[in-house]
Amino acid sequence: MSTDENDTAEDSSASPRTRSVDVVVVGAGTSGCYAAATIANAGYDVTIVERKPEEEAGHIACGDALKGADAFPEAIPKSKIEPAFTNTEVDHGRFEIPQEDTVLDIPVPGELAVIDRWEYGRLIIEGAEEAGADLHYDTVVQDVKQDDDGTVTGIVAKHDGEVVEYDADIVIDGAGSLSLLQDKVDFSDATFDTNVSYQHFSSAYREVVEVPEPVEWSDALVFKPAEVAAGYVWYFPRTETEINAGLGFQMTEEPMKLVDDLKKDLRERPEFEGAEVIDKLGAALPTRRPYDSATAPGYMAVGDAAAHVNPTTGGGIAGAAYAGKYAGEQAAIALDAGDVSEELLWRYNQRVMDHFGGRYASLDVYNILSTAVDVDDLMGLIASIPGEKLAEALYSGTTSFGPVLLAQTAASSYGHWSQIYEFFKIKRLADELLAHYGRYPSRPSALEGWQVERDRIMDDIYELTGADPKY
Ligand SMILES: Cc1cc2nc3c(=O)[nH]c(=O)nc-3n(C[C@H](O)[C@H](O)[C@H](O)COP(=O)(O)OP(=O)(O)OC[C@H]3O[C@@H](n4cnc5c(N)ncnc54)[C@H](O)[C@@H]3O)c2cc1C
Repeated sequence: MSTDENDTAEDSSASPRTRSVDVVVVGAGTSGCYAAATIANAGYDVTIVERKPEEEAGHIACGDALKGADAFPEAIPKSKIEPAFTNTEVDHGRFEIPQEDTVLDIPVPGELAVIDRWEYGRLIIEGAEEAGADLHYDTVVQDVKQDDDGTVTGIVAKHDGEVVEYDADIVIDGAGSLSLLQDKVDFSDATFDTNVSYQHFSSAYREVVEVPEPVEWSDALVFKPAEVAAGYVWYFPRTETEINAGLGFQMTEEPMKLVDDLKKDLRERPEFEGAEVIDKLGAALPTRRPYDSATAPGYMAVGDAAAHVNPTTGGGIAGAAYAGKYAGEQAAIALDAGDVSEELLWRYNQRVMDHFGGRYASLDVYNILSTAVDVDDLMGLIASIPGEKLAEALYSGTTSFGPVLLAQTAASSYGHWSQIYEFFKIKRLADELLAHYGRYPSRPSALEGWQVERDRIMDDIYELTGADPKY
């Protein structure tokens, strides 16, 4: 049970108020809510601390496209979040390539919904509470507590100007991109991945816009390359008349003037004439491979805090939900065993890599490629590849070409043959990388050896693409 040692104390002079819980989860986003619901369902005492006030919680900068909703973890029942699915008719991506005067329709595999993101955010918080998690709003985490042996034992936060400490057997960091907790934990005795730089992130901004007339493409996610290679503009229809319009770029590129560039694009599209902006938000998101390890003794990072995002699409909701589930289940196992060491938490890393981490790491190869090529060349190449093959490449990280398709592609891609040849060599290395992630180690002590071989494959990728090393 949770305790609140100084809650009723008359003497507020010295020691801060201290609460004790089994698990404290930082952040009431997707990863935090799914982790907390999983832990509460297992019968443990869990508190989510969220820096935002209750009215603002769940309001997250997002493109609002939710992929794989049909197979979301059950810790929060699907029926709970379904009311936020405002458009379930989307079945393809519409790839606009002005440089080639081309529009490509690319099927989106699996179930996809465009959602009212804030409503979804509120519903998952409710779902976590219904599972038994406590929510503490207006609580900004500022530091972590750590034993001499490196085990994380809690957090220090500020609520209403007062310092509040939370002692916990396990801390789950769901604080999103550039999580402050990771600046505070001393990871020197852990495998936790600290090879992280701002260039691994994208800066993104979106507006929710109401248009006077229904758009023609309400069954499509519309993508358009930005003027920089590793950037794109998107239009995702929440309904026929409510559009999530946004754009983002990898921070290795010349910064885009996000607000102005979006305004310019909106002005150029007749369907946005007379449109009204009803919400705006911007944020950073990781567009890199997942952290090699997201564990330390007594500590696991989930979702954006561990780069669980598809680095080619920026889709991170599904990864966050699953990371939350896996971390929550591993937390319950560790609590049952009375052992929060990295050896015991390690299985969490394995499940992430096995489910989507390896795939996202191999997709990152195409992200690296995009920073090293001219945007017009890249668009010419994309325009020449059959749509269904692009879809496979975008979502599964690999694709195969039969002889007939190969011949068709060769015919339609005249002028891009040398790039296609380079692309195939890169694809082979991306496949090799994926296979290597399939051999992700089963214990922390084997991580270093595994990383040496992975880095060798990455060196070949940098050499072939001519890109600057990303890690
Ligand atoms: C512009 C944009 C568009 C995107 N579009 C899509 C899309 O269309 N589809 C998709 O699947 N993904 C999209 N993503 C990515 C997706 O939004 C994230 O991957 C996902 O929200 C990650 O969830 P999370 O729980 O890890 O982190 P978050 O949702 O960021 O939640 C983190 C929470 O932690 C809280 N917090 C942070 N620091 C502290 C602190 N110190 N103390 C207390 N609380 C703290 C925050 O207030 C927040 O509530 C987009 C991202 C951006 C920026």
